[in-house]
Amino acid sequence: MEALEGLEAAKPEAAREHVFSPGEQGDGASLPETKFHADRAASDVRRCKVTVFPVPEKTILDFLKGLDEVLVIEELDPVIETELLRICAANGLSVKIKGKLNGHMPNAGEYSAALVTEKLRDFLGLRSSAGQSAAPGLQTPLPVRPPVLCAGCPHRASFFAVKEAVRKYNAGRAVKRKAVYSGDIGCYTLGNALPLDMVDTCLCMGAGISNAQGIGRAEILLGHEAPLNFAFIGDSTFFHTGIPGIVNAVYSRANIIIAVLDNSTTAMTGGQPHPGMGFSISGSPAEKISIVRVLESLGITEIVRVNPFDWEEAENAAAALLEKDGVRVIVFEAPCIMVSLPGKPLGIDTEKCSRCKLCINKLGCPAISCDLPTVSTGPSVSIVSIDRSLCTGCGLCKSVCPSLAIGAVS
Ligand code: SF4
Ligand code: SF4
Repeated sequence: MEALEGLEAAKPEAAREHVFSPGEQGDGASLPETKFHADRAASDVRRCKVTVFPVPEKTILDFLKGLDEVLVIEELDPVIETELLRICAANGLSVKIKGKLNGHMPNAGEYSAALVTEKLRDFLGLRSSAGQSAAPGLQTPLPVRPPVLCAGCPHRASFFAVKEAVRKYNAGRAVKRKAVYSGDIGCYTLGNALPLDMVDTCLCMGAGISNAQGIGRAEILLGHEAPLNFAFIGDSTFFHTGIPGIVNAVYSRANIIIAVLDNSTTAMTGGQPHPGMGFSISGSPAEKISIVRVLESLGITEIVRVNPFDWEEAENAAAALLEKDGVRVIVFEAPCIMVSLPGKPLGIDTEKCSRCKLCINKLGCPAISCDLPTVSTGPSVSIVSIDRSLCTGCGLCKSVCPSLAIGAVS
């Protein structure tokens, strides 16, 4: 009980809850508001930003007092809206709450700036002037920025090692063997993006290993040659729901290569510890469960551990497993760049660089880019460079540069 009361008291401060005064700008939410305030006598418009659940009841009560109506703008389920209704009822407040439950906001879809502006205008009784944009300032389309693996991410190196091993394996064959890469849920799902293109399936946590087994059997049933059948899974997902699929793979004599991408954290959701890390959620020491020992205990004998940034060794290890059958595992071990210290950034020697762009087109590291030709460089010359503020010095790009143009800079 004491803990719950302490939590309630700490919520507004801990969670950036804030009631904004009329005209006051808040982070990320001031787009249409300032304009609206100028449009109407602003003294009667207030805004409250809520970022945690359970909601900070006292902050919300202070916000609600004296208001006639509230428009709740929240994506996904109407959780805060329902809480506002409850708080109003419990405290005898006759504030009209408008949101999804009474059709003022749409139940599904993205709450774009244009949509929110339109709904706010309706709510405030303002009309758009003829020809006025619903979302002033956003008329120029933003550039497309797909999510990518971070610069220096070990997953990029792991995917690249497997990709190269498969490419070289097939290079010597008249009939190429199909490779299927079953993926899973984690940062490494971003391995689906070009140029890596290494995630063919993504269903739910732990499903990659089961998918790979099903795909392998389906190909055989269809009379096809067994594919090169990979299942990628992160260390956290391995413990979460990966183990049952591996048990089944051993039990049913599947023919798959499981690639465990062990980056020593649960990176996608904020770096929470997991059973392989040796400490608990509260930071106290805990039993460190070894992925390799779990695999051995299930009867798997083909297990290899590599650092993906030792790219030759990593590629050779993946290549060796291609030549075997049964359940094989390669554990790529290198910490997430968010939990390790970055090295010194690398640079490109423009004298040596042939501008082949292999470093860009093979890896997709966001630290490497290519400037458009300029008047001084000439129309056909683009300069390939490394952004020192992003590069972690992982060295992976050195492995693909045929001109030995990438290296340390003074
Ligand atoms: S791979 Fe090497 S030579 Fe090719 S563009 Fe990149 S730095 Fe230049
Ligand atoms: S060393 Fe190369 S691959 Fe690694 S982060 Fe820097 S630019 Fe990217």
